[in-house]
Amino acid sequence: QPYLNRLKLIEEKRDLSVKKKADLKRLLSLSKNERSLIAIGTFFLILSAATQIVQPYYFGKIVDNALKSRTMKEVNTNLLILFIINCVGALTSFIRSWTFELAGQRMVYRLRKSIFSNLTKQEIAFFDETRTGELTNRLSSDTQVLQNAVTVNISMLLRFSLQLIGSLAVMFYLEVSLTLVLMAVVPVVILISMQYGKLVRKLRKTFQDELANAGTTAEECISNMRTVRMFGSERKMNINYSDNVYKSYLVGKKLAFNSGLFMGVTGLLTAAGISAVLWYGAKLVHDGKLSAGLLTSFLMYMLQVALAFAFLSSLYGDFMQAVGASERIFDLLDKKGKIPTEDEHGQMAKPHEFDGSIRVQDVCFKYPTRQDQQVLTNISFEIKHGQKVALVGPSGGGKSTIASLIERFYDPTSGVIYLGPTSIPLTDVDPLWLREHVSFVNQEPCLFACSIKDNICFGKQGEVAMEEIIRVAKQANAHDFIDSFDQKYDTLVGERGVRLSGGQKQRICIARSLLINPQLLLLDEATSALDAESEHLVQEAIERAMIDRTVLVIAHRLSTVRNANRVIVIDKGCIVEQGVHEELIEKDEGIYKKLVLRQLMPGDAPTKK
Ligand code: ADP
Repeated sequence: QPYLNRLKLIEEKRDLSVKKKADLKRLLSLSKNERSLIAIGTFFLILSAATQIVQPYYFGKIVDNALKSRTMKEVNTNLLILFIINCVGALTSFIRSWTFELAGQRMVYRLRKSIFSNLTKQEIAFFDETRTGELTNRLSSDTQVLQNAVTVNISMLLRFSLQLIGSLAVMFYLEVSLTLVLMAVVPVVILISMQYGKLVRKLRKTFQDELANAGTTAEECISNMRTVRMFGSERKMNINYSDNVYKSYLVGKKLAFNSGLFMGVTGLLTAAGISAVLWYGAKLVHDGKLSAGLLTSFLMYMLQVALAFAFLSSLYGDFMQAVGASERIFDLLDKKGKIPTEDEHGQMAKPHEFDGSIRVQDVCFKYPTRQDQQVLTNISFEIKHGQKVALVGPSGGGKSTIASLIERFYDPTSGVIYLGPTSIPLTDVDPLWLREHVSFVNQEPCLFACSIKDNICFGKQGEVAMEEIIRVAKQANAHDFIDSFDQKYDTLVGERGVRLSGGQKQRICIARSLLINPQLLLLDEATSALDAESEHLVQEAIERAMIDRTVLVIAHRLSTVRNANRVIVIDKGCIVEQGVHEELIEKDEGIYKKLVLRQLMPGDAPTKK
C-alpha cells in the first residue's frame, strides 16, 4: 500500500508538472499576436547587449593607454569609441524597452477584454460562489503579472543571458586562469543566496496572505459602515482588524530581520568572491602576467556577470508567479457558462407568437451552491395571457426563486418551464429574446453610476427617443422628481451623483422595465424600507405597469392579492393552496387565511441573499 501511495504521489507530481509546462507554453503563446514587435525588440536587444559586452574591454584599454603611452592621443581615440558605443547602447535599449513594453500592453489589453467578456457569460450560480474581489483582482493584478512575464521578463531573460554568456566568453579570452577562479567561487555564492532567497520568498507569501485576510475584514467594515455605526460596533471591528493586522505584522517582523540578513549575507559572500578574484588578479599583475588594464576590464566583466546572475534568479521567481497567475486566468478564460447568454449558433427559438403566457411544470430546484437544500418541489402552475397571478407565502418559501427560474438565472433541477401558446421550453429560447420579452422588477433596486436616462435605457439596444423615456418615467411616477433636478434626465446617480431615496430608485427601475415593454412582467413587491408617501407612489406605478400585461407578482399587499386572477400560496418550496382570494380566505386553518389575518405580510421582510 505505501508503495502504491508513493506511486500515486509521483504520478500526481508528474501530472502537475505536465500541466505547468502546458500553462507555460500557453502563457508564451499569448504574445503570438505581437510577434513582429517582439522580433524588432529582440534585434535591438542583441545589439544593446553587444554594446554592454564590449564596454569593459575599452575601459581596460584606456587604463593601459594611460599607463603605457606618452601622449593622450590613444586615450582620446578610445574614449571617443566608447562614447559612440554608449550612444548606440542608449538608442538600442530605448527601442528594445519600448517595443517589449508596448507588446506587453497590447497583449494585456486584449487579455483583459476577453476575460471580462467571458466573465459576463457565466451563469448566475458562478457569481453566487465567487467573490467579487477575487474576480476584479484577476482582471487587474493577475493580468499585470502576465504582461510582465511574457514581454518584459522575456526581454530581460534574453538580455541577461546574452550578457552572462558574452561576458564569460570575453573573460575566458582575456585570462583563462582568472576566469576559472571566478567559476569556482560564483556557484557557491549563488547556491547559498538561492537557498536563503527561498526562505524570504516563503515569508513574503505568508505575509501577503495575512494581509489579504486583514483586507477582507477592512473591506467588509467599510462597505457596511452604516450597520457598524448603527450598532456601535466600531470597537469590535477595530479589534477584529487589529488582530488580523497583528498577524501580518508578526510575519513582517520576521521578514524585516531576514531580508536584512539576506542583504548582509549575499553582500558578504559577493565581497568574498570578488576579493578572491581580486587577490589572484593582483598576484597575476604583480608577477607581470597581466596588465592593470586587463584586470580592470576583467573586474568589470565580473560585475556584469554578477548582475546578470542576480537578475536571472529573480526572474525565475517572477516566472513562477506568472505561471500561478496564468493558471487562474486560463481557468477563467476556459470556463464555459452553463446557461447561454446569447444565441451563439443562431439556432434557438424566438417565439413570435409569445403572448406572455407561461406554464411551469413539475419544477424541482436546488441552488447549485447549496446542494443539500431542496428549495422547490414539484411546482406546477400556469399563467394565461393577460392574467395577474400572485405568489404569496412565508419568507424563505421559494417565491423569488420561482421568478429567478423564469428569468433563467438558473435552470430547474428537473421539470420544464414552457413559454407562449405553442409551449416552447425556456431552455430552447434565445436568451436575448427572453430579456426583451420578460422583465423582472425585484426588491433591491439596482442602478448604475451613470445618468438617469442611461439607467432607464439600460435594457434597450440603440438610441431611444426622449419622448419615450419621459412617457415611461411618467408611468412609473418618476418624471416629477427627475424633472426637479437641475440636470433632469442627465443627472448622475450613484457615488458621484445624487443620492436617491429607496422609493425613487424603485420607480426608476420600474421605468427601466416598462421601456422594454415586456409581455410578461415579474414583480417583487417591496414592503419595508419605504415611507408611506413613497410606498403609495411606487404602488401606483406598479399598478399601472400591470395594466394590459401578463404578470406574476410576489405579493405583499392585500390590495394586490384581491385584484389577482389567482393566488398561489408557496410554503417550504411547495404549492400548498391556490385559488382566488375569496375562495382561499374561506378555508379554515389555511395558511393563506393566517397570512391575511396577520395583515398579509408586514412581517414578511425581504430576504437578503
Ligand atoms: P422567498 O422569496 O419566498 O422569500 P426565496 O426564493 O428567496 O424565498 O428563498 C428560498 C430558499 O432558497 C431560502 O431558504 C433561501 O435561503 C434559499 N436561497 C435563496 N437564494 C439563494 C442563493 N442564491 N443561493 C443559495 N440559496 C438561496
